[in-house]
Amino acid sequence: MQKTMLVTGGSRGIGAATARLAAARGFAVCVNYAGRKEAADAVVAEIEGAGGRAIAVQGDVADAGAVAALFQAVDGEFGRLDALVNNAGILYPQSRLEDIPRDRLEHVLRVNVIGSFLCAAEAVRRMSTRHGGAGGAIVNVSSMAARLGSPNEYVDYAASKGAIDAMTIGLAKEVAGEGIRVNAVRPGLIYTDIHASGGVPDRVDRLKGAVPMERGGTPEEVAETILWLASDGASYCTGTFIDVSGGR
Ligand code: NAP
Repeated sequence: MQKTMLVTGGSRGIGAATARLAAARGFAVCVNYAGRKEAADAVVAEIEGAGGRAIAVQGDVADAGAVAALFQAVDGEFGRLDALVNNAGILYPQSRLEDIPRDRLEHVLRVNVIGSFLCAAEAVRRMSTRHGGAGGAIVNVSSMAARLGSPNEYVDYAASKGAIDAMTIGLAKEVAGEGIRVNAVRPGLIYTDIHASGGVPDRVDRLKGAVPMERGGTPEEVAETILWLASDGASYCTGTFIDVSGGR
């Protein structure tokens, strides 16, 4: 039976590249998105056009009810879950820490941290041998920001990714004996729309001179790493991180 992968925020950027590559590697894919239906539908159409299987499911990962419905949609359509990619993430325009409003802080933590926890919990309930599941893989999309701290840009975002790193380590140990591997990627400067959300659409080109490899990365390069961590090729890897950052 065909393996399935749920990619949160799978409609654009790194998530869309991951969804496309997962389908090419034989997964049936659930493409989750928050609001831009046309982008999600386009990824699904592309996968189907190439002979793959995919569905698009709207749902804010920060909303527990929406997350429950998202996983129920996967149950209903595919009847199994083999891999979760916790990719949905947001950031706000660049700011110093003392100027970050509380509303923004809460929103970033709700989507990036609580969203990833809620989705991981639903995945564990389905995959864990403790719950009658057949095992699986969770790949969290962290960021080099967790290590660099994003000073003068978005320390709130960096801190949310630090929380993802801690969750990766803790959950990996919690479910290691239950057939689930939990790992993370830390992308560096990747060409996606997220930098426009930060108010600097050309941020990658502005900063790429400080990258040892002297260039930004592509969503496809991150997707390759995510797919490897989700694959049997990474069967003895759990609680670990791969920086996809050109050496930064
Ligand atoms: P992006 O191009 O801005 O795409 C974000 C995706 O997440 C979209 O599919 C969006 O759907 C979805 N999304 C946003 N909020 C959501 C929510 N509350 N619930 C469900 N889906 C939601 O972002 P990206 O650059 O590909 O980033 C993907 C991940 O990589 C994020 O976790 C980000 O922190 C991380 N990352 C990115 C970089 C980089 O340089 N790009 C570097 C390090 C880490 P809609 O379009 O419907 O809103």
